Amino acid sequence: MVQPIQRAAVIGSGVMGAAIAAHLAGAGIHCLLLDLVPARLTEAEAKKGLTLEHPAVRNRLAVDAIARLKKTKPAPLYSEAFAARITPGNLEDDLPKLAGVDWIIEVVVERLDVKRELLGRIEKVWKPGTIVSSNTSGISINEMVASCGSEFKRHFLGTHFFNPPRYMKLLEIIPGETTDPEIVSYMHGFCERRLGKGVVVAKDTPNFIANRIGTYGLLVTLRNMMELGYTVEEVDAVTGPALGRPKSATFRTLDLVGLDTFVHVAANVHGQTAATAEKDVFSAPDVLGRMVDRGWIGEKQGQGFYKKVKTESGTQIQALRFDTMEYEPVRKVSSASLEAAKAVKGAGNKIKALLGTKDRYSELAWNTLKPVLLYSAHKLGEIADSIADIDNAMKWGFNWELGPFEVWDEIGLVKAAQRMEAEGDVLPEWVRVWIDAGHTSFYEQRNDQRFYAHGGAWSELETPAEHISLRRLKQQNKVVLSKPGASLIDIGDGVACLEFHSPNNAIGADILTMIQQSVEEVRRNYRGLVIANEGRHFCVGANVMLLLMEAQEEEWDEIDLIIRQFQNTMLTLKRLEKPVVAAPHQMTLGGGVEACLPADKIIFSAETYFGLVETGVGLIPAGGGCKEMALRSSRMAGSTDADLQAFVNSYFETIAMAKVSTSGHDTKRIGYMGPRDSVIINQDRRVYEAKMAVLEMDRAGYEPMEEERIRVVGEPGKAVMQLGAYTMQLGNYISDHDRLIANKLAHVLAGGNVPANSLVSEQYMLDLEREAFLSLCGEPKTQARMQHMLAKGKPLRN
Ligand code: NAD
Repeated sequence: MVQPIQRAAVIGSGVMGAAIAAHLAGAGIHCLLLDLVPARLTEAEAKKGLTLEHPAVRNRLAVDAIARLKKTKPAPLYSEAFAARITPGNLEDDLPKLAGVDWIIEVVVERLDVKRELLGRIEKVWKPGTIVSSNTSGISINEMVASCGSEFKRHFLGTHFFNPPRYMKLLEIIPGETTDPEIVSYMHGFCERRLGKGVVVAKDTPNFIANRIGTYGLLVTLRNMMELGYTVEEVDAVTGPALGRPKSATFRTLDLVGLDTFVHVAANVHGQTAATAEKDVFSAPDVLGRMVDRGWIGEKQGQGFYKKVKTESGTQIQALRFDTMEYEPVRKVSSASLEAAKAVKGAGNKIKALLGTKDRYSELAWNTLKPVLLYSAHKLGEIADSIADIDNAMKWGFNWELGPFEVWDEIGLVKAAQRMEAEGDVLPEWVRVWIDAGHTSFYEQRNDQRFYAHGGAWSELETPAEHISLRRLKQQNKVVLSKPGASLIDIGDGVACLEFHSPNNAIGADILTMIQQSVEEVRRNYRGLVIANEGRHFCVGANVMLLLMEAQEEEWDEIDLIIRQFQNTMLTLKRLEKPVVAAPHQMTLGGGVEACLPADKIIFSAETYFGLVETGVGLIPAGGGCKEMALRSSRMAGSTDADLQAFVNSYFETIAMAKVSTSGHDTKRIGYMGPRDSVIINQDRRVYEAKMAVLEMDRAGYEPMEEERIRVVGEPGKAVMQLGAYTMQLGNYISDHDRLIANKLAHVLAGGNVPANSLVSEQYMLDLEREAFLSLCGEPKTQARMQHMLAKGKPLRN
């Protein structure tokens, strides 16, 4: 029986160690963070009269690392408060404490001698049963514990997080020769479920899977560029979104990683591989050495392949020219093949379009893709057992949209193989045999099952039952109702899921109609409703374009009608006699928030950026957002003496300042998390968890929410909020227009011109919201804000 992980220790509080501790803390795992004892006092410590024996000095590295977590961007912590779950310590005084944890992760410098020595010390205090792992990027797991005892080795494995650990999905698990398979399987499940990671199992070979193939790809690209005479920006134009890869493409990625690190990673494979062709590729080209010598190692030093230069007219981006080693302003790159790729959607189509239009750039695309496809196929068996693990590693670790075998399928397995062979390349034996057996792809879809080429036969790709995929359910004809902007899907066991799929998932008229129809359908035929989708963002709000057009045409009755429809729809959803659970993810703004608020429970994905941001476009929430916050304040204050005004003030500030949560957990800090709401770290499980929550409420005997009277702060409370806005304006913190919006918001949240502690109805509050919203739509500065948001994608301060 593997001992379940409740407490952990992270050894090494550098870039990765501290961020891994932060991620564990976010998953509710308390951990120790240990590092070296400093050899010298800092000036500040000496001034305070501290000695090297003082605990504050001895724990300094870890203490400073925890403090840095709160300042690092993007935030490694889901919530600053979680830093309290990390206890700092040092490797001299606190080693015995390792006996009190269930998982020890080594995250110190990438040196075999250091890691070996440290693991030897850990073994001395190690309590049998405790899992021990290393976060090494490429050192051999077996060699690290070569001189440890067999029991310790049985509990030891590699757990390779990618940087930054909170945001990168990939986690490579590397079992050693003697790691207990039960521990490997436990860690696989634990890291997926509890830490939300996409886990692949790698073999103990240099740089494991993603860094092995990723580095190879970057090196062949660099070589192509030098040999065939392309520029830095030409290579980036081809190797970014046109190939289904991130915008940072090749050279922005390298600048971000740091050339020093990259050279080190390449050298690790170079030093350990015997094969000459491969060794050749991994010997970094001279130019990298020259750049490292000059300190041009990328963003950390302000210049690498690119550099930003201040000019009279602003900032200019320049790219390095290798012949002269001088920087020149970046030139725009365009060609028929690049345009063809831009014109189509989806990574597969882009790659086909790029390769299908013959020019210099499609040649470069093929010459950088081909070696990666071949290399991945050659390395199967050596670095990983399945093509799915290789594909997933590249998607989750390098943010590629398609893995190498998926790309090969898109181009056409046979077609690409023929071209490779015609160009003199040798296919790996297993690929040749696979094609000779009449296969035309590496993956195959049969009804709702997906198969992959594995050991000369088709093997089923197993998806855990908890990973409910709406896309797959739609392929299986589980759609109950559908409109261009939204669908209702049967997700099994008597639960339906309302999915938005309009552009940016913005809420327009047809989504509102679909919600109304879904409510009817669920009322008759289902046990409850989930609101979730698989878009990039859950919902960016209401359709601002539509509103702006109506406002510019002065169609006030039309706007009144739209808002009434929005409000009525949300109220209908709230009054549904069946449980409703919303599961938002990523950006959930304005109307998107209002679509979640009527639910009985919200299950936030850990990466949810949630907020009523209407003031950014010169408006206030009017789809029930203000009403719901007034209702929450009233509930929290209870019927008697608690300070209702304080709760209302806090929501006033949150909405007026358009605060957005920095994570699912952070919704608690800004007041959007209700008592029944929760957070889920693994994104793939959110629809499943929402469905389970619906079933649980149904099983327990669901009681629908009844109309509630809202106790409001009334006119005196409104004056308090408006005074706050006035002071902010006097201090020049907000503009005249901000104050106007704030005054309207105060009016609505206070319940209008009624005496303090009046009890009002939900409908009364909705009418106040709508009136204020309409009056703001008529303001030229509000229209200017809407226009700016549509054109620039960010708020205008006017
Ligand atoms: P880092 O340099 O930021 O931190 C290394 C830490 O090790 C420091 O806190 C240092 O005090 C400590 N240390 C140094 N010598 C030590 C010793 N003799 N005994 C104990 N501790 C010692 O490095 P990092 O980037 O956090 O990398 C740590 C590990 O994670 C390495 O194995 C690295 O390969 C791996 N890794 C790094 C990244 C990345 O992007 N930085 C990504 C994945 C894996």
